[in-house]
Amino acid sequence: MKIKDIKIGVIKVPLTTPFKTAIRTVDSVEDLVIIIETDTGHLGYGEAPPTSVITGDTLASMQDAINNHIKPKILGVDIENLNFLCETIQSSMVNNLSAKASVEIAIYDLWAQMLNLPLYKALGGGESKLTTDLTISVDYIDKMVSDAVIAIEQGYETLKIKVGKDIGLDIERVKAIHAAIDGKALIRLDANQGWTAKQSVHAIHTLENAGIHLELVEQPVKGRDIQGLKYVYDRVNTPIMADESSFDPRQVIELIQNQAADIINIKLMKTGGISRAIHIADIAANFGVECMMGCMLESSISVSAAAHVASAKSTSIQKIDLDGPMLCQYPSIEGGVIFDRSDITLNNSPGLGIKSVKDLILI
Ligand code: MG
Repeated sequence: MKIKDIKIGVIKVPLTTPFKTAIRTVDSVEDLVIIIETDTGHLGYGEAPPTSVITGDTLASMQDAINNHIKPKILGVDIENLNFLCETIQSSMVNNLSAKASVEIAIYDLWAQMLNLPLYKALGGGESKLTTDLTISVDYIDKMVSDAVIAIEQGYETLKIKVGKDIGLDIERVKAIHAAIDGKALIRLDANQGWTAKQSVHAIHTLENAGIHLELVEQPVKGRDIQGLKYVYDRVNTPIMADESSFDPRQVIELIQNQAADIINIKLMKTGGISRAIHIADIAANFGVECMMGCMLESSISVSAAAHVASAKSTSIQKIDLDGPMLCQYPSIEGGVIFDRSDITLNNSPGLGIKSVKDLILI
C-alpha cells in the first residue's frame, strides 16, 4: 500500500452557536482536509483547522507545508513503514504542527486499514465508547447560564466553561452557572491564558471558598509562563491543566518535573499528529500523570482520530474534551465515528471508517 498522491481540500461547516474564548470568536469550522491516495485504491483522510492564534497555522501555510515540504518526501513510501513516515513528516520542517497532524492522521487511517482493524484496535485496543464534555463559550452571564442548562438537559455530565475575559465577571459567571446547574454536572474551567498568575490564584481561591467544586482549571496563564503556572499550581487545591503550555513531549516532561501542572491536555493539532500524542500519553502514564484528549474547532475527521487515540491510551487519557463535531450543525463525514451529544461511539470498520467527506472543495 504505497502513497500515490495527496489531495488537499477545504470544508466549511457552520457552528450551532458562535464559539467564544478569551482570545477569539468563530462562527464556522473551516478546515483543511487531505486525502491520501494509495496504489491499492485505499484512501486515508486527515483534517486540520487553521488555529492561527494558538498554533500559528493558516489554511495557506498548511497547504504550502504539505505540498512543498511533506508530500515530496513521502510519495511512493509504503504505509507499512509507519515509523519512518511519521519521523519524515515530523522532521520535514519546524513548527507547522497542524499540517503535520493532518498528514499523520491520514497515514494512521491507512495503516489501520492495512491491518484491517479500526484504528483504536490497531493501537492496542480500548473501549469503543467514550463520553465527552461540552464547551460553554464565554458570553453574557445569562447566555452562559442558559447554554449550561440546555447542555444538562441534553445529557452532558461535564461542562467546560470558557472564562479569562474579565476576572471579576469570570467569578460571577462561574457562580451563576454553578447555582443554575445545581450539582447536575461537573464543571471544568478554561481561561485560555486570560489571567495572570495572581489573578488565577485569587479567582480559584474565591471559587473554592464559595464551596464551588471545580474538576480542574485549564491554562489560567500564558502558555510560555511556566513559572506562573507553577505559582498557581503551588497555591490552590483545584487541579491545574496545561494546554497552551504543552505542545510537545519535552514540554510535558518539563511541566511534570517542575510540578507545574496536574493534568496535560493533548491535542493532535499541538503535537503534530498521532505519533507525538502517543509519546505524551506514554510519558504521562509513566509518571502517573493524567491527560485529557482535547481538540480545536475541528470536525469529525480529526476528532475521530483523537477519539481512537484516547481509547487506546486510556491508561493516562482519562478525560475527554472532543466536542468539536457537536458544535457543528451537521457531521462533515459519512461513516466513521458517531458523535451523539456526549456519547462517542468508535467505528468497528477498518481505520477511521470514513466513507466520504461532505461538501469537500478541492484546492
Ligand atoms: Mg484549552
